Amino acid sequence: MGCRFCQSNDLRVFTAEMNIHFPGRENLDTPTVWVFPPVTICLQCGCADFIVHGEPLEKLRKYSALDCAAS
Ligand SMILES: [Zn+2]
Repeated sequence: MGCRFCQSNDLRVFTAEMNIHFPGRENLDTPTVWVFPPVTICLQCGCADFIVHGEPLEKLRKYSALDCAAS
């Protein structure tokens, strides 16, 4: 299966650490969510794919449901 944008087969899997923030000034106090997913990156167009699951996904759902989180 190739890149979903450019159909290149030049894909590589990397490790990553990401600190996900909720956008907007109203979310300055909303906790950030750390994730450490494997990231598949197309070396032709730069498209990147990763999956968030488990506790980090639960945190994203929880904080998104709060009134202070942007939708
Ligand atoms: Zn691509």
